[in-house]
Amino acid sequence: MIQQAFIKATGEPVQLGTASQLTQIRYDQTHLIETRQPNDTTALIQPESFHWRFPYPDEDGIAPGQFLTAERRWHIPGLPIPPGVMHNSVQVTNEERNWSVTVPCPVSPEATRLIGRDTELRPVESPGTPQIVRYQTPPALLWPVTIAAQRFNGYRLVLETECAGCGALWTYPDIDEVMPVIETLRHVAALLARPEPLRPQGLASFFLGAMSGECDAVADRITAGYLHKPSAVPARSVAS
Ligand SMILES: [Zn+2]
Repeated sequence: MIQQAFIKATGEPVQLGTASQLTQIRYDQTHLIETRQPNDTTALIQPESFHWRFPYPDEDGIAPGQFLTAERRWHIPGLPIPPGVMHNSVQVTNEERNWSVTVPCPVSPEATRLIGRDTELRPVESPGTPQIVRYQTPPALLWPVTIAAQRFNGYRLVLETECAGCGALWTYPDIDEVMPVIETLRHVAALLARPEPLRPQGLASFFLGAMSGECDAVADRITAGYLHKPSAVPARSVAS
């Protein structure tokens, strides 16, 4: 189901996303749109039901519906996946040989038990044991925690992150739980702020031209979601 609304100022229709994934609107933009169907379920009515686009600082000023990438994911270097996350299985397909096999998420504890930590390639130990090759090239699975969205819980906008290996989602319900994320981003910002010879190469090449200020700014945005009560959602206007 496509979530559609209208830009208040112009009446232009705008597509906000699909089903519960509002990839084309941030929560702080809800005052810019309205819905006109009497019984639709778009964002203005049940903000808790949706995954809102994360407010990346470099996207400030972009109108709802105009974001260039639907699925933007920011890898957080060095941040471990919390132990309680339920990973999904993933399917690996060999099209040439016409077979596929389902294996545990390569960064799940189950896969670690099977292949060992930080193992790139390991012989199959017993017949029937799926062999998993874990590529250690950042950011893919070496930095598996990615920023996915914000969730609204009535009081706060909490961070939702995704496992890069399997797409499992989890949130950090309060400020204490999200602190490791914020501290990791501050640490990365400090590393990127070092003079060139002292800057870790893997980090610098992943962030390319990105400055340490961007990591700090993303950390600020995460923090703000937990500290400030989001402004009230405007009432839905119904077309007569
Ligand atoms: Zn996973």
